[in-house]
Amino acid sequence: MKSNGLSLAATDHLQMSGREGLGRNPTLLCAPIMGQSVDQMLSEISKAKAGGADLVEVRLDYLNNFNPRQDLEILIKQSPLTTLITYRPKWEGGQYEGDETRRLDALRLAMELGANYIDVELQVAREFLSSISGRKPGNFKVIVSSHNYQNTPSIEDIANLVARIQATGADIVKIATTTLDITDVARIFEITVHSQVPIIGLVMGERGLISRLLCPKFGGYLTFGTIEAAIVSAPGQPTLKDLLGIYNFRQLGPDTKVFGIIGNPVGHSKSPILYNEAFKAVGFNGIYVPLLIDDIGKFFDVYSSSDFAGFSCTIPHKEAALKRCDEVDPVAKDIGAVNCIIRRPSDGKLIGYNTDYIGAITAIEDGLRGSHTTNNSSGSPLAGKLFVVIGAGGAGKALAYGATEKEARVVIANRTLDRAKEIAELIGGQAISLVELEDFHPENGMILANTTSIGMQPKVDLTPIPKRALSSYSLVFDAVYTPKMTRLLREAKESGATIVSGLEMFIGQAYEQYERFTHLPAPKELFREIMAKY
Ligand code: NAP
Repeated sequence: MKSNGLSLAATDHLQMSGREGLGRNPTLLCAPIMGQSVDQMLSEISKAKAGGADLVEVRLDYLNNFNPRQDLEILIKQSPLTTLITYRPKWEGGQYEGDETRRLDALRLAMELGANYIDVELQVAREFLSSISGRKPGNFKVIVSSHNYQNTPSIEDIANLVARIQATGADIVKIATTTLDITDVARIFEITVHSQVPIIGLVMGERGLISRLLCPKFGGYLTFGTIEAAIVSAPGQPTLKDLLGIYNFRQLGPDTKVFGIIGNPVGHSKSPILYNEAFKAVGFNGIYVPLLIDDIGKFFDVYSSSDFAGFSCTIPHKEAALKRCDEVDPVAKDIGAVNCIIRRPSDGKLIGYNTDYIGAITAIEDGLRGSHTTNNSSGSPLAGKLFVVIGAGGAGKALAYGATEKEARVVIANRTLDRAKEIAELIGGQAISLVELEDFHPENGMILANTTSIGMQPKVDLTPIPKRALSSYSLVFDAVYTPKMTRLLREAKESGATIVSGLEMFIGQAYEQYERFTHLPAPKELFREIMAKY
């Protein structure tokens, strides 16, 4: 690790927790415990141990009828994991509203009863630390914390805050801020990676998730993982299961390359599961994370280091990504959208590609070959077909381009007709409105491809075209893959069409991206096995 202070302290703890030598980093995994009774807390602590946590943060402020001596004795003595005791007051975002002396007395008692850590807020830290001066047991550490629920300050302000916390005599510094934009997290990484003292730096909120996932790479002392998705002590905490199972937390290190999916929303994406499991299977030193991004230009301006090596790109950034790349593959340029970006190691330039079109067109061709509708066995079964694309975004353009390449006659139907017209002009096709689409059946045996997000979770009852309009189509493809069986596909099947799921496109485009990310052949069978589980 970059900081000697961190390595030393964390190594101590790894010895205490018996986890020494199990992973590539010393960062600890802490489960917040927020039961309302001691029994509930003990049961949560058992779950945390079974879930792979190294320690638990016992939040005394969540207990009803807290009896300090009796309850702390039980919690600390009976906990099978090392304990961090926190008694967070309302004024720092916690639940406790009572007398300060009583609160700080309980923390002192926790120390005396054998807690491994206590957390005390910066505002009262100096006074508290002087009250225990000379009485601290050898293996006991004080975390001094500061929480900002509004924003993430400038790097200078954060550095000053760290210095103020250190000056109190803290063993471990904790800073938790709030994300307004994903670029806020970069400032916390900058602080933790260069810190000479053990430091916990976390950014709360959905846009701050990478501060928690990449904590071991950037030198954080610990991160929080919850025992259940709903039991969070701060917004944006992932589960222990995801940290250990999906994100391969123990194997991350300073040299781990970061990949991710750029989107908004991005929480539904199955890409992190797919790539991380494949990375793990072949021992590739990479992590693939969701990147909830509002402004792609700002993201690349801030995350410009070679640590951030490759990206998938989804709604609504595929067209903006093309403009932001330094170089764009000719096919992606023709399509007008980029769904895969590689940072070239030699000069750091961003190179954009489009792998959507290959994945989708191959899946549709396979669907046609497997069905009885094609009479063209040598060339592409799409040649000569009337191919209707719904949607004119990144995926729509890719499908329209790919089908034209295969000599299909392409019609684009879109909510915003002008966008459909733009593509039609580019590829020599026809543009229609969504209303016209409902009565569009110039011939039988047409192909339909939905490339809008209509029907995607959670709005699974929606469909882009009424069932009655589906009878002229011999094959219906839906780019949406969550759920795998959309309402559109279900109704198409009931209408007698061959159906092709967006999952096929997803797997196809993922092969291409994986090979660009890793320079290794994609484990195709493994991809299918992984996706079959979800
Ligand atoms: P995008 O660039 O944002 O384009 C979205 C398109 O959908 C636009 O044409 C938009 O119409 C239309 N649209 C969105 N909401 C609509 C609504 N409520 N009613 C009518 N039209 C609507 O997105 P994209 O990147 O092309 O992705 C589109 C879909 O494909 C997403 O669901 C994505 O998950 C899926 N996809 C799947 C894969 C896969 O591997 N299976 C790969 C890529 C994409 P306007 O032009 O009028 O705004």
